[in-house]
Amino acid sequence: CGVVAVHGHPDASRQAYLALYALQHRGQESAGIATADGTHLSNIKGMGLVAEIFTDDVLAKLKGDMAIGHTRYSTTGDSALLNAQPIRVESTKGLIAIAHNGNLVNLGNLRTQLERKGAFFQTTSDSEIIVQLIAHSQATTLVDAIADSLSQVDGAFSIVMMTRDRIFAARDPRGFRPLSMGRIPGTDGNPDTIVFASETCAFDLLRAKFERDVAPGELVMVTKDGVTSRQFSSGIPQSSCIFEQVYFARPDSKIFNRWVQESREQMGRQLARESHVPSDLVVPVPDSGVTAAIGYAAESGVPFRFGLIRNHYVGRTFIEPEQKVRDFGVKLKLNPVRNLLEGRRIVLIDDSIIRGTTSRKIVRMVRAAGAKEVHLRISCPPTISPCFYGVDTPRKSELIAANNSIEEIRQFIEADSLAYLSLDGLQKACDGGEGNHYCIACYTGEYPTQWVDVEDILPAAV
Ligand code: 5GP
Ligand code: SF4
Ligand code: MG
Repeated sequence: CGVVAVHGHPDASRQAYLALYALQHRGQESAGIATADGTHLSNIKGMGLVAEIFTDDVLAKLKGDMAIGHTRYSTTGDSALLNAQPIRVESTKGLIAIAHNGNLVNLGNLRTQLERKGAFFQTTSDSEIIVQLIAHSQATTLVDAIADSLSQVDGAFSIVMMTRDRIFAARDPRGFRPLSMGRIPGTDGNPDTIVFASETCAFDLLRAKFERDVAPGELVMVTKDGVTSRQFSSGIPQSSCIFEQVYFARPDSKIFNRWVQESREQMGRQLARESHVPSDLVVPVPDSGVTAAIGYAAESGVPFRFGLIRNHYVGRTFIEPEQKVRDFGVKLKLNPVRNLLEGRRIVLIDDSIIRGTTSRKIVRMVRAAGAKEVHLRISCPPTISPCFYGVDTPRKSELIAANNSIEEIRQFIEADSLAYLSLDGLQKACDGGEGNHYCIACYTGEYPTQWVDVEDILPAAV
């Protein structure tokens, strides 16, 4: 998911809309914007893409100088409009709207405890637990109640919250998901606009200047009097999601203090060093393989060409996570450039293999277009374990690398050779010079939190 918050802008809903537009890649299922003007709090959500939901007429209804927004990506069965965000909850502490990126892992216990205390849940989303904990907190001030709530939940949360007159932003103590703070300088003596977004690429569109990341375990409050901050948790080692660098985030974002573009190029370079194979062309699987392929080509000296063309107009109806739709979807989405591939030895670069079915179709497609050899190179290690922190990976039984050797996977996808980036190589590529502080659980099966039962399927809300 993608989240955004805006404080102190006359057209806050439009700013939130633009930011969500830039964060659309983080979730295409539903989107929502809530605004507040000091007295009222409005909230509009819909299924589909940001630009489909928020027409000018709809945006005009969202008045106020504060806004939060959300774009949602979730697993199947959990996709109702009911669970779209922001979630707005009326409580003893007043009206609160929340937008959440990540996944909580100690869900079951907390929900039962809260229901015993009389909490009535309006959604099945894990994010509502945070608001119910705030409502049921013994703390007297709202900011204390929020800190109290956040210190009770475990897992991944980059969240933004809004009351009638305040904005809050917070990150879980391990800093799983990104969340940055930016500033648009005020003109004509007006105060600055403070913005928060999942990724810095959203700031560019708002002409906001990146200020800093929200720190792991930090709760930031923005009021008319300015920005204040406190740590609600400390002493837990950081474990930011390395898969954000591999696949999820945009290359034009700087997350976890590291440009995604730089990480991906280094992944490609390292991949070329580790598993070079004689070839004529380096071809990325667009778009996710492009930046790593540029690195691979630069390091190996083999020419880079767009041998697969992506149709950017394929609607989301065709990228539903259902197997039969997905199979057809590959052909709609990608088409080979026969002229480039014919008679050549091709190194295909992609970011990851999850089930292996897409990769097999792509290898077949490249071979059918006349390639003499097809060598697949993957810019991360084998994905052997599911994510419980907000990335929509399938259960272990469906992860091809959890149940097969690399040679078995190679045979399944019908490639002439297959190699993955080493874990050490991936960590080096993502290291911005501060040492590693990444979660790598989907490659090791060792999770940084308790409460994780690998056989469990938790409701996911990225
Ligand atoms: P597979 O061969 O495993 O069926 O598909 C691999 C492709 O899925 C890769 O091109 C990769 O970019 C893409 N992919 C990797 N992770 C995810 C994810 O979490 N969600 C979606 N929708 N696609 C993913
Ligand atoms: Fe990211 Fe993998 Fe950790 Fe999930 S398990 S947070 S995808 S590194
Ligand atoms: Mg891809």
